[in-house]
Amino acid sequence: MRYLIYIVILVVLVAVGILARFYIPKKKKLNTNPKTKTLGGNTAQLATIFGSIDDGLILIDSKGTIVLCNTSAGTITGWNVEDTIGINIEVVVKLADPQGNICSGQKYPFTKVLGSGQSIKDNSMDLINHEDKKTAVGLSISPLKDDSGTVTGAVALIRNITDEKEQESRLADFISTASHEMRTPVAAIEGYLALSLNNKVSTIDDRARDYIEKAEAATRHLGTLFQDLLTSAKAEDGRLVSHPEVVELAEFLKKLTDDLKFASDKHGLGNEFIVGTASAIKTALPQSDEHQVAPLYYVYVDPDRLREVVTNLFDNAVKFTSSGKITVGITGDDQVVQFYVRDTGVGIPSEDIPHLFQKFYRVDNSATRTIGGNGLGLFICRKIVELYAGRIWVESEEGKGSTFYINLPRLSSQKATDLLEHKSNTIAPTINAT
Ligand code: ADP
Repeated sequence: MRYLIYIVILVVLVAVGILARFYIPKKKKLNTNPKTKTLGGNTAQLATIFGSIDDGLILIDSKGTIVLCNTSAGTITGWNVEDTIGINIEVVVKLADPQGNICSGQKYPFTKVLGSGQSIKDNSMDLINHEDKKTAVGLSISPLKDDSGTVTGAVALIRNITDEKEQESRLADFISTASHEMRTPVAAIEGYLALSLNNKVSTIDDRARDYIEKAEAATRHLGTLFQDLLTSAKAEDGRLVSHPEVVELAEFLKKLTDDLKFASDKHGLGNEFIVGTASAIKTALPQSDEHQVAPLYYVYVDPDRLREVVTNLFDNAVKFTSSGKITVGITGDDQVVQFYVRDTGVGIPSEDIPHLFQKFYRVDNSATRTIGGNGLGLFICRKIVELYAGRIWVESEEGKGSTFYINLPRLSSQKATDLLEHKSNTIAPTINAT
């Protein structure tokens, strides 16, 4: 509802801006300061509305100069509202990224919006006020354009989200402590159930075996759930342990696909590994065949974390495929290594695809109702892939199957050799996979 009101205000603002261009003589500068008396009737009303908005609202021109700043924006930035008018936005709204680095130049969100003409929403930044105090803020910056589509400025909503962040962090702490504490007794129960099923240490009749096998399966499921909850809580607050190293991904995936073969065999599914034949990457290297030397796809990742990702995608492919095969493939260009896990299973409805990598999201259909799962696997996969500046997405057709793609920044052979030679050197690659 709140955003609806803001959108209406935004539309009115743009309309006033356009009208102003017609009715205000060219040399006279439009003064949009809510406290000045040069405003016309409608604009004065708007100024009153802006003044009463709880969130900070700032309007800048195409050069980044502030032309309007409401009282809340003044409070959050620690600036006197009148003093902000005519000043560059970067001076008044100082922003730091999650690592604490001050955003400037092309990394500054307002500059990005003015340059690209695209809106930005971001909840990860801190605003550093006039007294150098940090406040967690939610930013929503939208470009203002004239009839020809030229960006004439931008309007920003700045919200203090300190309480929300604290609540999120308390919740993540609770989930992480609770799942850690519960994992220990569950592991003990699982161990004792396994002992009961072991002929060498226990004697049980067939009926008891049946019950205990079911109890063991349920306990294993519970153990996985606690482990996934713990991993996702850590992923959310940046505590996911990662020891990146140089990994040659084609070799790594080949071995892993072999190891996972037992899972596809068990379900009567084929299993294949393909190097260099994915069509999804437009600038892919030429297809390799048996007579070609396979290219080396170096990436800088924690192999254990990557194993988690591939295993989860492979397990899902097996779970949601009743016949056909699972294919793991790899390709790449100079910048990016792309690998994929493809199945010939039930597929995913298009309306579910945008939500698939969110926490606890499961497609609601007969397949998922009968197949176990907790909806955390793909969320964890996304978080791990993002840890290495990568990207994960899916293409799928209902009834035909799904392909999960992952792009990771590629290390040149030279860079990989340098890193291998100086193992103690911890320089991480800075290229982004897109
Ligand atoms: P889980 O498998 O434990 O439910 P995931 O996060 O791994 O959790 O997957 C979320 C949902 O995405 C699944 O419940 C399923 O609906 C859908 N899904 C994932 N992989 C596939 C696949 N290969 N084929 C069809 N649906 C899939």
